[in-house]
Amino acid sequence: MKNRGTDYTRREFLATSTTGLVSVGLVSLSPRMAFGQDVKESAERPEAEIIYRQLGKTGLKLPIVSQGAGACNDAGVIQASYELGVRHFDTAANYQFGANEQLVGDVVRRMGVRNKVAIASKIYTPRQRRNLNEKQAKKKLATLLEGSLRRLRTDYVDILYIHDVSTTEIVNDPVITETMKHLKRQGKVRYIGFSTHANMTEVLNEVARTGAWDVVLTSINFTMADDTDLLKAIANAAKKGVGIIGMKVMAGGSRWPNPDSRREYSSSTIATASLKWVLRNENITTVIPGYNNHQHMKEDFSVAGNLEYTEEESNLLSDNSIKLGMGFCRQCRTCLASCPRDVDIPTLMRTHMYAAQYANFHLARATLDDIPRQNSLRTCSSCDICVAQCANTVDIRRRIEELKVMYA
Ligand code: SF4
Repeated sequence: MKNRGTDYTRREFLATSTTGLVSVGLVSLSPRMAFGQDVKESAERPEAEIIYRQLGKTGLKLPIVSQGAGACNDAGVIQASYELGVRHFDTAANYQFGANEQLVGDVVRRMGVRNKVAIASKIYTPRQRRNLNEKQAKKKLATLLEGSLRRLRTDYVDILYIHDVSTTEIVNDPVITETMKHLKRQGKVRYIGFSTHANMTEVLNEVARTGAWDVVLTSINFTMADDTDLLKAIANAAKKGVGIIGMKVMAGGSRWPNPDSRREYSSSTIATASLKWVLRNENITTVIPGYNNHQHMKEDFSVAGNLEYTEEESNLLSDNSIKLGMGFCRQCRTCLASCPRDVDIPTLMRTHMYAAQYANFHLARATLDDIPRQNSLRTCSSCDICVAQCANTVDIRRRIEELKVMYA
């Protein structure tokens, strides 16, 4: 593949990673970049030293707070994040229908910092991998990656995830595994992994067992503190050298007008408490909170040098009404068996979270489109049988009705 001016650096980078630790962003920073017209506010670094952790056996060292750039449409926020100390940007081929990869790629290229940041992307969604034979699957994976590289304006991604995996069948699929390894050998991908929102425990345990994959991006937040199986699976995978990155770390609840959580606590406290809860687990290398403005960027990155709870944060985390008030759907699938029409309730709940809580309508649409027609919104008759099955007080009925208004 034609190199675009980073070949020497990349080879050097790759060579270093095979022999020892690679520190992303340990190179001293240049002063504020000259092309700062997109920077609307200056990005001040936190006073405390930024904490770095190693991403499993990859050897990559990352600051504990990264940017989930998926909903971001402001180049200035991405640039300011880099200036603040963020060194890992998470995107996906289908975020904003490809425009998000373009944005991340443009900023990184314009700043000339490709060799100082880790870019993670995701391809091969459930819909894209449906009903493919071996030849088609190989071709699809390769074609999707080429599209991502083109949009990201780079010749390699640091982490490439298979997008949205909830079965061990995918983890063990020989065609996917071999094709991803092949892309790695070609130097187009440095590390391979899965993103998982549902059945995370099984996916993590299987990845740990096989030893064939480098990274898992898993849903984890304080409302799941009682899920000891998941916490054990994270610990087990980390012990086996799998790099663990956390997503959904704020339970979708810090920055939406949820009166139950806002009554006693500011959105800033909810955000920092949520991030600290995840990051105090040292098996988790870094987290990817999604933000799209300078204020949220600063709030999120403020924990990168200090994981001590304030009194208010401790109070929030021990307040059970907050956990219940957030109504986070942990994608446990308990409700699925109760539905006489096979509606994919967990994925609909995730769609609702993206639309109503993240205000990320592109992602909501893409998630909805991943549900086979026969299991989606129109099939739901609003019989309410599922509601009683949910132990996590997810307001399934209201959320489905709202989705019907938006999308049916
Ligand atoms: S709605 Fe409730 S029961 Fe259904 S997947 Fe979500 S948390 Fe589990």
